[in-house]
Order: sequence, then structure tokens, then C-alpha cells
Amino acid sequence: MSTVIHESGGDPHEVVVAGGGVAALEALLALHDLARRRVRVTLLAPAEKYVHRPMAVAEPFGLAEARTVDLHQFASAHGAVHVREALARIDDATGEAVTSSGRRIPYDSLLVAIGARAVEVLPGALTFRGPPDSPAYARLLDDIEAGAVGRLVFAVPPGVSWTLPLYELALMTAARASALGRKLDMTLVTPEPAPLAIFGRRPSDTLTALLRESGITVRLGSVETMDGGGLLLGSGEWIAADRVVALPRLAPPELPGLPRSARGFVPVDEHGAVDGLDGVYAAGDLTWHPVKQGGMAAQQADAAAQAIAGRAGADVVPRPFRPVLRGVLLTGGAPRYMRRERGGEPGETSVNPMWWPSGKVAGRYLSSYLADDESARPLHDVSEGGELAAIELALEAADADASWGDTASALRWLEVAERLAIVLPAEYAAKRDVWLDALAAAPAA
Ligand SMILES: Cc1cc2nc3c(=O)[nH]c(=O)nc-3n(C[C@H](O)[C@H](O)[C@H](O)COP(=O)(O)OP(=O)(O)OC[C@H]3O[C@@H](n4cnc5c(N)ncnc54)[C@H](O)[C@@H]3O)c2cc1C
Repeated sequence: MSTVIHESGGDPHEVVVAGGGVAALEALLALHDLARRRVRVTLLAPAEKYVHRPMAVAEPFGLAEARTVDLHQFASAHGAVHVREALARIDDATGEAVTSSGRRIPYDSLLVAIGARAVEVLPGALTFRGPPDSPAYARLLDDIEAGAVGRLVFAVPPGVSWTLPLYELALMTAARASALGRKLDMTLVTPEPAPLAIFGRRPSDTLTALLRESGITVRLGSVETMDGGGLLLGSGEWIAADRVVALPRLAPPELPGLPRSARGFVPVDEHGAVDGLDGVYAAGDLTWHPVKQGGMAAQQADAAAQAIAGRAGADVVPRPFRPVLRGVLLTGGAPRYMRRERGGEPGETSVNPMWWPSGKVAGRYLSSYLADDESARPLHDVSEGGELAAIELALEAADADASWGDTASALRWLEVAERLAIVLPAEYAAKRDVWLDALAAAPAA
């Protein structure tokens, strides 16, 4: 057993952040902003990279790739040390985080942000968990193109709170099938009261209309089981399907020393403090917050980071977690932005960004970081329109540069537009391929 030693003088507040996902990254950025001189941070994460899973839905369509962040570089750029191990247990009595190799890391504050496990619920379906399932989805698209799939069903299993990715896959698949001239019978089954009802009536109505226009039939109900030829619903109805695409259910991680609620998730207060443990916080999918979503994980991480900064003696008044739900729905055409404050019926939706930077995971700090926003302004809500003009300008600049034969510059403009717009319009995604080919074929200068 060994202890992690940081090189620093004084008596800083020792913080251990366990996890390498949305909540952990947001917490590191927040602590760096709020308390960098008062804390010494260890990032305990077994992975080498953070993978931005929300963009995985665009990968099979060739519209975008899930961006990755090197955790070692990220940690050192934000005053932390990355230890590439998993948190194995919490020793509350001694105030130590025990790693998978038995190493003991003392903490004054520990933030547990280790996410939840994605569990397949419908054996036989294509369960979409993110980048590892992109190739299988791309093969499904190939089969659709080849005419081998006639009836496609998308199924939200019971107990899934963040259903948006399945709507994105359904809408983008419908757009692709239509572009290919393939007739596809598509149904989406969900136990929600209405599609994306958590966003409120307006976004839900907009989505319902989009699904209708795309020819996707919606069945509100729960899926019981699947057999070779289709799906059995709780109502007893049977839906025939050549292929079924499903979301996984999230199961809580099992970590000795961490209390669990009746449903297995970690009980925390509105500052992220874990019930019954001193100096231990939790944020993200592993907590008992009902909506397991990146923006929620980031907001929880902010609340916990503020509480930790306050404990470390920084001049911060910790603000409690007051969730605002923000989501971007990829459709195969213009994305739809959706937003809802607590109790804020009817919710809001727009084709224009409603917050900035307008990333898919709306985190106070993480959005700027992932957008490479040099102004590094924290996420803020915006009035409609301004940023849309910036996207159009970037696309126009790309076209202009390409028309003069400067494909390298055109591609740089596309990167700018992609950061602003989240995904490029399909027309520009196709242009990018052409310009990349042209650049590769060009003689070296
Ligand atoms: C296909 C898909 C699309 C999505 N789309 C959106 C979207 O559009 N918008 C949105 O806001 N959210 C979206 N989400 C949800 C979002 O990705 C999650 O809610 C978010 O990542 C949760 O953050 P987290 O930090 O709690 O967990 P994660 O991001 O899952 O991170 C958990 C981290 O902990 C690490 N870890 C695990 N065990 C240990 C351990 N014992 N010790 C140390 N580290 C450990 C893991 O390696 C991982 O790095 C989507 C998810 C999927 C799968």
C-alpha cells in the first residue's frame, strides 16, 4: 500500500475526485476556478480518456464523432494529478479512498462521480449504450439501405429516465431511409406519458409532430419481452419487428462504504453531501436524482464543488442544486433545443440555441471546455438568434474558401461551425468529406 504525495507546500485541502466522466470533469473545472490555491486535487479514474457519449448517436450516420479528452492532460492542465486506478472502497473511519490496487489516498473531501452501469434489458435488441454500439448501428443502416429491414421498432424499457438518444436515433434513421428512398415501417414504444414529457408540453408536442412528419408511429406503453419476431407490450399487444433498437437501463454501482437508497442509488442532499458520511460528496448518474442526464450530472457536480471549495476556505457561498433541464435533440435536420426549469410547464423549445455554449451536455464549465470556447465564459442562457448568425457566417466562409481552392481553411471554418452548431448540416458533412479528399490529394506545399 502506498500514499499519493503531491509536490506542494502549505496545508491545502486534499480533494479526491473519483470518476472520469461528465461530473468528474465539471468538478475539476469548477474547483480550479473557485479554489485552486486552497485545494490539492487527485483525479482517481481507471480510464485513459473521457468519451463524449452524447455525440455517439451521430456517429453511425457519419455526422460527427464522439470527442475524447485525455484525462492525464486534462488533470494536469487544471491543477490535478491523475491516478489511473478505480476507487474500490471508502474508508470513512480513516478518511481514505482505497483504490483497486489497495493504495490509500487520504482526503478532506471526496467527490464520488463514478456513474452508473448500463444494463441490457431486452436481449436480442440492439441496445445502444454509446460509441461501442455505433458500428452495430452503422450495420443496421447498411441493412436498411440494402432493403433487408422492413419493420423497425425503437423501445424505451421501463425505468429509463433519459430517453432522448432513442428519439434521435429514430428521427435520424427515418431521415436516412427517406433520403435513400427506402420504405421503412417505424414504431417507437415508450412508457413516458408523452414523448420527452420531462421537458414539458411544448417540447413534447414539437417532438410528437416531428415523429409524425417522419412517419414514426408512437405507442405509449411498456415493453414486456421480445421474441424473434417482435415485441410484447404490457397491454398484451404484440408488435411485429424485423429489428429492435433499445436503450439500456442504468444500474447503480456497488461500492463498499457508500450508502444506497432503496433503489440502490446514492442518497445526497442538495449540496451533493452523501447521507451519513463526513466530507463525502456524490454527483451524476450514481445519485438518486431521477433524471440521469449529463447536464444534471454537471449541475450536481457544480453544487458539490462549491460546497468543497467552501470547506477548503475559499470565498464561495455554496449554492444548492436547483436543476434546469437542457437538451439538444438531433433530428437529421436542424437540431431542436429544449429547456425546462423546475416546475416550469410548458417548457421551451427552439431551433436556435437557448444557452451558450450550446453543447449537448450543458455544464457551467464543461460546455465552454468542450466547445474550445476561448472566452471560457461559463454557460449562460441566451436570447434566440445571435449564435445562429455566427453559424451561417462560418458556413459561408467555408464555402468561400473552398471556392478559391483553400480547402484547409474551409475545413477550419467547418470546425468552427461544428463547434457552434453541434452537428454540421448533412450537406456540409458531405462537403467536408469531399474537401478532406481534396486536401489529401493535393501535392505537399
Ligand atoms: C447514447 C447516449 C446519449 C446521451 N445523450 C445525452 C445528451 O444529449 N445530453 C446529456 O446531458 N446527457 C446525455 N447522455 C447521458 C450522459 O452521458 C450521462 O448522464 C452522463 O455521462 C453522466 O455523467 P457521470 O459523470 O455521472 O457518469 P459518466 O459520464 O458515465 O462517468 C463515469 C466515470 O466513472 C468512471 N468510473 C467507473 N467506476 C469507477 C470507479 N470505481 N472509480 C473511479 N472511476 C470510475 C468511468 O470510467 C467513467 O469515466 C447520453 C448518454 C448516452 C449513453
